[in-house]
Amino acid sequence: MALDFNFTEEQRMLEDSVYKWAMAWLEPQMEHAYEIDEMPKDLFKQTGDLGINGIVFEEKYGGAALGYVETLLAYETIARVSNALSMTVGASQTLCFDNFRRNATEEQKLRVLPKSCTGEWIGCLGITEPNAGSDAMGMATKAEKKGDKYIINGSKIFITNGPVADFMVFYAKTDPAAGPKGISTFFFETAEKKAKGQVKFEKIKKWGMRTSPTALVTFEDMELPEENLIGGLNKGVAVLTSGLCTERITLSGCTLGGQRTCLELSLKYAKERVQFGKPIASFQSIQEKLANMYCNYKAGKFLAYSAAAYCDSLTNKAGGKGTDLDRMAAASLLFNGEVGTKTGLDAIQIHGGYGYTTEYAISRHFLDQKLWEIGAGTSEIRRMIIARELMRDDFKSGL
Ligand SMILES: Cc1cc2nc3c(=O)[nH]c(=O)nc-3n(C[C@H](O)[C@H](O)[C@H](O)COP(=O)(O)OP(=O)(O)OC[C@H]3O[C@@H](n4cnc5c(N)ncnc54)[C@H](O)[C@@H]3O)c2cc1C
Repeated sequence: MALDFNFTEEQRMLEDSVYKWAMAWLEPQMEHAYEIDEMPKDLFKQTGDLGINGIVFEEKYGGAALGYVETLLAYETIARVSNALSMTVGASQTLCFDNFRRNATEEQKLRVLPKSCTGEWIGCLGITEPNAGSDAMGMATKAEKKGDKYIINGSKIFITNGPVADFMVFYAKTDPAAGPKGISTFFFETAEKKAKGQVKFEKIKKWGMRTSPTALVTFEDMELPEENLIGGLNKGVAVLTSGLCTERITLSGCTLGGQRTCLELSLKYAKERVQFGKPIASFQSIQEKLANMYCNYKAGKFLAYSAAAYCDSLTNKAGGKGTDLDRMAAASLLFNGEVGTKTGLDAIQIHGGYGYTTEYAISRHFLDQKLWEIGAGTSEIRRMIIARELMRDDFKSGL
């Protein structure tokens, strides 16, 4: 059995360039940006210049034609400085534009994707609704066919990038009586619809993941031509669940990057901080926390990167119900989300009172981690998915 856990030279170079950029451009503005809860202007132009935006897109659309391992690595590396902004980049590029790329027509992709690669356009994805969170299939947003148009009414909540988005992909019921079999996927450019008053994006205040803008989106008789329906009429569930797999795998990078920084900052602090005449790192109860952080990070890293590598090895690179990828993707984010919160808490504890102040970056890393037990399907829902896939009749054990 050949096992090679090393990154390639190209992957190391990617990690290096993203980390240097994040430390030089992002880190100096994070404390203030977090306080005022504003996404740094030009973030997407910067990630566009770095080649992150279209990292898995084909070159003809302006992409780098790399894989989900590289995407995960890029998101992990951004998250070493900002978990929140890594999520924001992922929400635009993986949740919105990559989902669009997998389902739109060639003409539509040639028109839209180059703008996402340069960072001219920011994207968002709308699944969650005020009364349909974990039970996403219970969504109430409706798309009614009138002549050759769809009329959209309803709302979406907690939409990452909503307040700044130029482009949105979302799901709506096209045949409400058919339940999950009556859901379709739509897209639209936001500027024109906002100007006409057909859609509203209202910013939601949060205590964590600040700098990553979140919105309540309301559709009021929003008109869309039929060509803005992608992935097939009433075929939205396959689009949604398949997209959630790449989302859960690559966004595991957000918690991994945060965990790594929590460990690095805690190690440094524990070696420098002296109490009772000794560095606190010499106390066993502090060492226990550091050792746990290390083990969890390494185990989480394996779950995430092995899922990404498995995804890259598939011809269609798609998951969804009844696939091994569904289980692996859910496991990756489940584990990393839960150990991420624990690691964040331990990091604050090691920093003592200083960890409770906003001057120390550790406070942001801690606050951001909790989201990963909730966003992209909660821990409870991920456990249900893992168990469902383990109990599948044709589960052949890839254990
Ligand atoms: C910062 C942030 C960013 C987000 N970004 C996006 C985005 O870009 N796009 C998008 O569409 N959504 C986004 N979300 C929404 C997110 O995916 C939902 O919050 C999540 O799916 C949970 O839905 P809910 O909040 O309605 O919780 P609920 O579904 O109401 O759940 C409440 C609690 O009940 C539990 N629960 C529910 N059903 C079950 C069950 N059957 N068995 C056991 N326990 C259960 C849940 O696990 C949870 O603990 C974001 C959320 C946040 C906070």
